[in-house]
Amino acid sequence: MIRIPRSKVVYSFSPKHSPAAYAKPGEVVVFETIDALGGQIKSENTSLESLDWTKVNPATGPLYVEGAEAGDTLVVDILDISTEEQAVILVVPGYGALHDKKFNPKVKLLQRRRDYLLFNNIEIPVKPMIGVIGVAPPEGEVPTGSLGAHGGNMDVALITRGTKLYLPVFVKGALLAIGDLHLVQGDGELCVSAAEVSGEVMVRVDVVKGKRPRYPVLELEDRYAILAFGKTLDEAAYRATEEAVEALKRAHNLNFEEAYMLASLIVNLRINQVVDPLKGVRAEIPKKYIDIDNILVETKQS
Ligand code: CA
Repeated sequence: MIRIPRSKVVYSFSPKHSPAAYAKPGEVVVFETIDALGGQIKSENTSLESLDWTKVNPATGPLYVEGAEAGDTLVVDILDISTEEQAVILVVPGYGALHDKKFNPKVKLLQRRRDYLLFNNIEIPVKPMIGVIGVAPPEGEVPTGSLGAHGGNMDVALITRGTKLYLPVFVKGALLAIGDLHLVQGDGELCVSAAEVSGEVMVRVDVVKGKRPRYPVLELEDRYAILAFGKTLDEAAYRATEEAVEALKRAHNLNFEEAYMLASLIVNLRINQVVDPLKGVRAEIPKKYIDIDNILVETKQS
């Protein structure tokens, strides 16, 4: 099995990064990850001014996947996520869904007890998830703190064990990187952080040739979710709707008017997060009505 140590981190998604490891389609890879604060917070007395902000949002990788080329889809099957026992959450004035309110910076350590996280004496069931997962964009450099069609800091609580993620490939080898595990997070990630934790992610990678999605797509047990984004929630909701309607047109050979009606009956829009540089909205479509092939768009002549 391939293992990428947590010493191999990047702070951006970019075609310029040299691969930390190579894998063939079908291979299993373990990514050792550091928490989103770069493992710098060990005590509740840590002041935010003392943090080295260049060490924030590390992602482990990138992994070069043989055979993946621009126009393909990288399939990432999340087989397992294991984490350390202690997580950290923080509030930072000026950030989060209530960024305009007056409040103080605060750091809180949270302990895991078996399947629960303790917040004071409140027990919260853990559901470990991946905050940052993505591939290289076609050119330039996207910081690991941001998101886009390449994935990135999406902070989607559904990116967890048993989920399959479809990412569009823009460069040879795809260059997959993963980081920013959360022991638990609600939809929205309201205060700007979740239960930030270091750990390990085990994935199986695969490649679909000649087609790719416009946005990252999740496959869950009973549905697909198209992970759209935008400068505002309105823009993200528009794009998620547009993409769901296009997929339904292809799935059922419908014209726009009927696909738009069908979307109104069966598609659920949900908020992914509201606190990152771009906002995230997902369109969920039950598998009963659609197949992944209807969501991936042909990019090459056969
Ligand atoms: Ca994050």
